Amino acid sequence: MDVHKLIPTPKNKNLESMAFNRLTSLVNSMADGVIAVDKNIKVVLFNGAALNILDRNNLKEGDYLKDVLKPVDQNYHTVDIVKLVRDANAPTTNRDLRISYSDGSVSDLYLSIAPVHLGYNDAGRETGGYVLLLRDITAEKSLEEERDEFISVVSHELRTPITIAEGNISNAQLIFDKSGDMEKIKTALKAAHDQVLFLADMINDLATLSRAERGKLTVEVEPINVHDLVLELASNYLPEAMDHGLQIKTELDPKLEILSSSKLYVREIMQNLITNAIKYTPKGQITISAYQRHMNVEISVSDTGIGITKSDQERIFDKFFRSDDVRARAINGTGLGLYVTMKLAKLIGAEISFKSELNKGSTFSVIFPNMPPSSDSKE
Ligand code: ADP
Repeated sequence: MDVHKLIPTPKNKNLESMAFNRLTSLVNSMADGVIAVDKNIKVVLFNGAALNILDRNNLKEGDYLKDVLKPVDQNYHTVDIVKLVRDANAPTTNRDLRISYSDGSVSDLYLSIAPVHLGYNDAGRETGGYVLLLRDITAEKSLEEERDEFISVVSHELRTPITIAEGNISNAQLIFDKSGDMEKIKTALKAAHDQVLFLADMINDLATLSRAERGKLTVEVEPINVHDLVLELASNYLPEAMDHGLQIKTELDPKLEILSSSKLYVREIMQNLITNAIKYTPKGQITISAYQRHMNVEISVSDTGIGITKSDQERIFDKFFRSDDVRARAINGTGLGLYVTMKLAKLIGAEISFKSELNKGSTFSVIFPNMPPSSDSKE
């Protein structure tokens, strides 16, 4: 949309007219919204980007700014735009305003206001006004919020295991100095070690997440013997499961064929699902099964654990989501595991589904397709 010629084009003055046209194209090609107002805070000039931000298809010369731009603050209180503009004796910027639209949506607004002095008119009055620059910064703001949330969640989650590990190590030292009871020292060191392992897992999740979000993950396709992989995972996780008083069972389709996919990611996806199954199962068993499904392979992890409520089921793959269930809260976690798992699954074209019933258990299933050799990432 063009800059509306609210300022009359100079007549018969070629040079001035050229300058005006140049200015018009310049303002029009700006990605940011521009609105110029006079001393009475009435619109004299605007560009198409401003109309987009205001969600209007037109403005008129002489429209009062307060009738067309009605920002609110972070608490949705009306902001007196006329006062805001008049108070701008020097260029000012504001990143905390919002615009609400008639459909209920809201955008974060960057608004810069600069006074413009144009000298004096024939009557000796000072002329000029203000020029406003408007930008929709909703996406930027949500990134900032996400980053702040990320830092606060991660630092909180790092602090907990460090505090527990530190407490246990000092305890071990104390026991060593006092009684030297080796059993108690061993227990304290094991508790500290568990927390360090958890920290290592968490840092792995964070590293994978950061690589996935920067699109830096590459897929190396290789033949995978799913039968062997499942047995290997079951035996790797057996000690951890037994620590929780759980059994691990495997069910393997005799018709399993060699799967062509990323061994690294298939393993990581399954590890995340098995770790969750162990974490959220106070008693019973974990079953890892693998079946040939035509050209694809389905690997599932079932548990007899705490289960997931219907409302939580919609959110478990969200970044940072952790259930409010006290039993889940009592267990260390970042809410990143399933988010990362889903990212990896997408990368190799795998589909994750799950069924869960509160207090009965959950089954997470992943269908892994055969990937063509040396296939690139899908994201
Ligand atoms: P984390 O385990 O670090 O909290 P995840 O992203 O792996 O993060 O899981 C998100 C949430 O989903 C968990 O906090 C838990 O509430 C729920 N959840 C995941 N797997 C299971 C499971 N097997 N049984 C019960 N709840 C689960």
